[in-house]
Amino acid sequence: MVGAGNAAFCAALSARENGAEVVVLERAPKNLSGGNTAFTAGGMRVAYDGVDDLRTLMPGLSEDDLAVSDFGSYPVTAFANDIARVTEYRADPDLADILVNQSLDTLRWMTDQGVRFVPQYGRQAYKVGGRFKFWGGLTIEVSGGGQGLVDALTRAAVQAGIAIHYNTQAVGLITDDSGVRGVRVVQDGVSRDELADAVILASGGFQANAEMRARYLGPGWDLAKVRGTMYNTGDGITMALAIGASAAGHWSGCHAVGWDLNAPEFGDLRVGDHFQKHSYPLGVMVNADGRRFVDEGADFRNYTYAKYGSRILAQPGRFAWQVFDQKVIPLLRDEYRIREVTKVSAATLPELAAKMDGVDEEGFLAEISKYNDAVQTGVAFDPNIKDGRRTAGLPVDKTNWANTIDEGPFEAYAVTCGITFTFGGLRITPNAEVLGTDLRPIHGLFAAGELTGGLFYFNYPGGTGLTNGSVFGRIAGRGAAQVC
Ligand SMILES: Cc1cc2nc3c(=O)[nH]c(=O)nc-3n(C[C@H](O)[C@H](O)[C@H](O)COP(=O)(O)OP(=O)(O)OC[C@H]3O[C@@H](n4cnc5c(N)ncnc54)[C@H](O)[C@@H]3O)c2cc1C
Repeated sequence: MVGAGNAAFCAALSARENGAEVVVLERAPKNLSGGNTAFTAGGMRVAYDGVDDLRTLMPGLSEDDLAVSDFGSYPVTAFANDIARVTEYRADPDLADILVNQSLDTLRWMTDQGVRFVPQYGRQAYKVGGRFKFWGGLTIEVSGGGQGLVDALTRAAVQAGIAIHYNTQAVGLITDDSGVRGVRVVQDGVSRDELADAVILASGGFQANAEMRARYLGPGWDLAKVRGTMYNTGDGITMALAIGASAAGHWSGCHAVGWDLNAPEFGDLRVGDHFQKHSYPLGVMVNADGRRFVDEGADFRNYTYAKYGSRILAQPGRFAWQVFDQKVIPLLRDEYRIREVTKVSAATLPELAAKMDGVDEEGFLAEISKYNDAVQTGVAFDPNIKDGRRTAGLPVDKTNWANTIDEGPFEAYAVTCGITFTFGGLRITPNAEVLGTDLRPIHGLFAAGELTGGLFYFNYPGGTGLTNGSVFGRIAGRGAAQVC
């Protein structure tokens, strides 16, 4: 097993319960392990038909929770449609089908491994009329967030007798005429061969590799900030391509978001995902010219945030400011309240403009004035639904949740592009076997998670990355055990 994130541990546990001896090889030292998984809030998208399904994942849900919550339902058809729609109908239908249909059962299996789920009240539901209404198909998160997930899976792996080697980087696959026979590793600076009947690659995408970003995503992407681990440099992908694996998916595409302008080059586990700034549907985003450049209200945050990072990267100077007034400031997500935030505030818009570094003040004030005039105030504002409260007649309209920006004190937050993970990767079968360029499985080689390609193109429904790793990790583990 190469990697020690969510996909890897789900694969390792599944291989173990199917009878295999398992060794986990993790490049990072123990205190920095867990990959991108450790940086997440642990939000996991899962199909459910109603609260009874959710209760199987969260047996601790109380009558009080139920009384104040409208969980609705998120049937498999809705999950499948969301994947198809946001990927512009390019997602591999076979992989998507498995992901969606096995999501609930896989998360139940994770609870058997000791993972605990809770409702995502803070980020995925607004309280209206005394009740929380969940609006974006992303209803649950792991208790303790991404670190809680890594801790729970690590505990389960240790209990299951799985050996975990940290500071151990896989650098190549060992093959013979029958297929893959193991992994060449460097452990604490010493090279050695780890022989195995099967290898599962779950070592993440290439987003932390500036050279590969520029090569595959295009010019300018070398300048993006990395939201998560510095260790996902595409090693697993490179190793597999070197022995004839087939590349699949959107190699020039990635998941990238609005991320604090002054965040460090790589993620910081202390801050986790809080450098992100995802309340833009409640306000406006302007560039250096003071101009808006996206429809901030095109859809719920879960269906736009992963593609708006690249739109920010394309702006002059690769930055934007998000602007809010008092009508919505109380609704901003928790990540706007951290110490490490690039924020200015002012009583009036001209004072705010003067403080927004790099922004053309007159251009900004003219833009807000035109925007305010274009808001259709006759429609009620409701953040729990796509309320249709929009602007009309602007070159870039805002089509939901449009409020005038006129009640000070105002706040503005500076963001740049933060890359989460890359979409291109290894081609796998529905059984998580890695295919060669002849489209035949490479014997003994499996892959799961971020380093596989074919599911995500252009965009991504929030919370699908972890579920993808869990579903296909579990499948890969089962398949690998059969080879052993
Ligand atoms: C800030 C942030 C927030 C996110 N929030 C969410 C969310 O709420 N919900 C969601 O679904 N997704 C979220 N994601 C995406 C999610 O993190 C990924 O989709 C998922 O964690 C990928 O899991 P993985 O196991 O494939 O990779 P990872 O968890 O990244 O694990 C890969 C592992 O491989 C190791 N590795 C790399 N190279 C080698 C090598 N050569 N040898 C040995 N080991 C190696 C790495 O050190 C790492 O431990 C978020 C991502 C970030 C960065």
